[in-house]
Amino acid sequence: RQAQYRLLRNKPAVTQDGHRVSLNMNAGLLVDLPHLAEAGAEGIGLFRTELQFMVASTMPRMDEQTALYAAVLQSSGNRPVTFRTLDIGGDKVLPYMRMQPEENPALGWRAIRLGLDRPGLLRMQLRALLHAAAGRELRVMLPMVTEVGEIHRARALLDREVAQLRRHGHGEPSRILLGSMVEVPALLFQLDSLMQAVDFVSVGSNDLLQYMTASDRGNPRVASRFDPLSRHFLRTLRMIVEGADRHETPVTLCGEIASRPLAAMALAGIGFRSLSMSAAAIGPVKAMLLALDIGRLKAVLDPLLALDNGEDGVRAALVAFAEAE
Ligand code: PEP
Ligand code: MG
Repeated sequence: RQAQYRLLRNKPAVTQDGHRVSLNMNAGLLVDLPHLAEAGAEGIGLFRTELQFMVASTMPRMDEQTALYAAVLQSSGNRPVTFRTLDIGGDKVLPYMRMQPEENPALGWRAIRLGLDRPGLLRMQLRALLHAAAGRELRVMLPMVTEVGEIHRARALLDREVAQLRRHGHGEPSRILLGSMVEVPALLFQLDSLMQAVDFVSVGSNDLLQYMTASDRGNPRVASRFDPLSRHFLRTLRMIVEGADRHETPVTLCGEIASRPLAAMALAGIGFRSLSMSAAAIGPVKAMLLALDIGRLKAVLDPLLALDNGEDGVRAALVAFAEAE
């Protein structure tokens, strides 16, 4: 198996009916980087910058952040890297940062909320990213965005840092792209303004499922209770793709479900042409896509997603389709 996947490493993921799907990997530390070439990922679709902060015993200084980001870009060569700004709070605790205890951390003061309220921290990170990406493309992504206004505020901070860079005659990125995670359900009702406000979006299906189904992703009693391959969730994901397509905004998905071939198949079926997953999943997902005919899958999936009859046989139908092909 492993050897077989290695043979696919430099082969693009093109389905039987000619759809190309970009396969990227999730990462968060330098040790992840060798997997990029080994797995044949096209880029890093999600770089979780909070990991550097979580493994450190004191707050990483700006030069330490810059060094990490520069090393990541260096070892990625020409492959695109999407850096997500700090997603701390909730289940991601920094031992050296005193935070008020919260009754519901998943719904609390975290990620971009904290970033906008403590702009010093976010601005330092943006500056580190700008320095590290001098002369090349910089892709920045905001976590836990709930309202489009938060993107505008973050962009204003980014613009200020770029202006500062110029004033000091520092090198700047050749191009800056600002994107947003889609992982808070409120964004689903702002899709048109969202797609116009960003250069790309990435669906965080882990949190989106958690918040949609009101079930804690870290609580084993409820975490797997609701199926990401249920009709309602696949419809939700398809709505995001359609919203992105209306505005020609690039869309990808970087939650855990992209790592599972059956789910990745369903995601291709509802329109995703880019996914980001664990490095180990790229081989199996690529093998699945090379054998897949999306047109034939849609013929099965679309009518099932159109129904609303109380029964949800979507997963069973996907399994049956995968076995028959
Ligand atoms: C997600 O929520 O799906 C996601 C990719 O981000 P994280 O798992 O880091 O919250
Ligand atoms: Mg998330």
